[in-house]
Amino acid sequence: MRRCKFCGSEAYVQLRSPRLAMCEEHYKEYVERKVERTIHRYKMFRKENKILVAVSGGKDAIAVALTLHALGYEFECLHINLGIREYSEYSEKIVRQQCEKLGVPLHVLYLRALVGRGVGELKTRREVCSYCGTTKRYLMNKFAWDNDYDVIATGHNLDDESAFLLGNVLHWNTGYLARQGPYLPGGNALVARAKPLYELTNYEIAKYVALFDMNLTTEPCPHAKGAKSILYAKVLNEIEEVSPGTKLNFVKGFLKNRELFQEEPVELRACRVCGMPTLREVCSFCRMWGVKEELKLQVEHLQDSEQHDEN
Ligand code: AMP
Ligand code: ZN
Ligand code: ZN
Repeated sequence: MRRCKFCGSEAYVQLRSPRLAMCEEHYKEYVERKVERTIHRYKMFRKENKILVAVSGGKDAIAVALTLHALGYEFECLHINLGIREYSEYSEKIVRQQCEKLGVPLHVLYLRALVGRGVGELKTRREVCSYCGTTKRYLMNKFAWDNDYDVIATGHNLDDESAFLLGNVLHWNTGYLARQGPYLPGGNALVARAKPLYELTNYEIAKYVALFDMNLTTEPCPHAKGAKSILYAKVLNEIEEVSPGTKLNFVKGFLKNRELFQEEPVELRACRVCGMPTLREVCSFCRMWGVKEELKLQVEHLQDSEQHDEN
């Protein structure tokens, strides 16, 4: 039987990089300390900041909420109901259970109520996952901006980030590379974005979340991600098997060299409809959803319109 390195009791988890066996209690502490170190290392936020955690119902987003809660940060959560019929209803239900259990305030935005349609119902040449991503990022940012949050924390983890990095290196998407990283500072109507799980793998996060009695979404999105990012993650896992620590070295090495990909800052202007920064006259969100008037996402405003809906 493996024993915990710190207390000698039965090990709950055995990591390969670093080589470390830990009991439940010490593992919990290990993960939370690692998240705290990540937050400090990349200067993501402080206790006094107004923090918004974007929650999907999956293990990663709730792991952000659980670790921040354990570390004594105050925050609120945002869930975006993307209007993907049963899938979105199911995800929202799980998120509501999670936030109630944790005792943190939750805000929910309904894409269908805001733009009249859901993800999957748009006629465009773009792939569903791609415009869904744009939609989520826009709504997260607009909500955070309208309600004066300092930072948005998401559940992106080391597996996501290293797979994304590999894909972008293979195709030398230097523009994407310049904008990738654990912390993207805000400015110009963009709220800062932070990825506190940047240095934790899927496995480490799943083992952490399993220590809590939390329901998680297990159904994949019906529009599930392109096979490519899954392939990149799989390849990286195979390499990691042979040389543990590769994924972390890959993203950390990239961060040291990120300046190589920096581009001339581009001139952004305000979207004619919503005022958010864009390269064109109308931003991609307003353009693709045919939005004609700025969506006002102030909490007071949303509550008013919800009350109107019920009448
Ligand atoms: P994904 O792009 O689905 O891999 O999700 C990455 C992160 O984005 C998650 O860990 C969440 O923090 C956030 N996120 C994804 N979907 C939603 C959603 N429907 N509502 C709020 N946040 C989300
Ligand atoms: Zn122990
Ligand atoms: Zn716009």
